[in-house]
Amino acid sequence: MVSLNMGKTIYILSDEDIDFNVTSRIGNYACGFIRNGKFRVQYVGRSDTDLNDRLKDYVVTYKRFKYSDTPSVLAAWRKECENYHDFEGSIDNKIHPGRPEGYSKKEYPCNARVTCND
Ligand SMILES: [Zn+2]
Repeated sequence: MVSLNMGKTIYILSDEDIDFNVTSRIGNYACGFIRNGKFRVQYVGRSDTDLNDRLKDYVVTYKRFKYSDTPSVLAAWRKECENYHDFEGSIDNKIHPGRPEGYSKKEYPCNARVTCND
């Protein structure tokens, strides 16, 4: 079974809960809902600068979220690629995660899947 690797806590996707729990720094997130006590992923993403602010974009669209702080923009992108490929086809993400500013495709190819050309 695939995991987001974002811990066990499932948060309510509201401005109040985001402000109470999430800092304005680099991080990864997953939006979704709860069914039969389990978190169901609908969208995965990252912010290279302000996870708190980014999550607020989804308050009207999704109900719940999970997140994790990430040490660097490269680590956040790598994690987003893993999350994207793990749930590809069953989530709302239509395109591959974009590379962070300054990281070329040649030097930093997606290594989440050997079949990935991004
Ligand atoms: Zn990929």
